[in-house]
Amino acid sequence: MTNGETLTADSRARLAAAFHTRVRASYGCTECGFLTFSCAHGWYHVTSDWAVVEPVDVDYRPVPPGRQSHTVLISNLANRIQPILRYDLGDSVLLRPDPCPCPCGSPLPALQVQGRAADVLTFPTERGEHADISPMLFGTLLDRVAGIEQFQVVQTAPSTLRVRLQPENNADPDRVWQAVRGEIAHLLTEHKIDHVALERAKEPPQQSPGGKFRRVIPLAQP
Ligand SMILES: [Zn+2]
Repeated sequence: MTNGETLTADSRARLAAAFHTRVRASYGCTECGFLTFSCAHGWYHVTSDWAVVEPVDVDYRPVPPGRQSHTVLISNLANRIQPILRYDLGDSVLLRPDPCPCPCGSPLPALQVQGRAADVLTFPTERGEHADISPMLFGTLLDRVAGIEQFQVVQTAPSTLRVRLQPENNADPDRVWQAVRGEIAHLLTEHKIDHVALERAKEPPQQSPGGKFRRVIPLAQP
């Protein structure tokens, strides 16, 4: 399970060589962990008896098979405790266009995924290039800082990160901020991104309009 990142052909080959086995990935999300499984022909097959996958364009109109979607709506039909219906996942996908079954033999609908690109932070570098940081890295880093109830990192300008913190009740907010600032600065330096301004937000972490809490919010695309 690649958990929000794309399994590249290179990574797949390295894993297969290291563990002397065949490697398959599943593409899913918190809202529907069993959404798909991959086959030997490079497609993710949708478990369509349990989940509905609808690739749509920027205006939420259906996108036909064979064309890259803007985003994808998913419905989890198996979860009756917390129904998730037509949830906007934010991923660009492409449905397999052939009407006949996949060469692997599966009759289930199949798709390819560009990856959870929505939450990746992109920074301009001093050499005029771009450097990406996966949102997962912030979680890995800040989950080990003591005294944080919740955090949210918001990219408010190409080279500015605004950090919203909800410290635990008995924690000293200033000490938590110092630790968080140090960890993020270290992460940026490791990625050779060293001109990013870190702002301490006065407001606490916020929910998005859809009700989802996002820990990392990249700069909105124009
Ligand atoms: Zn297949």
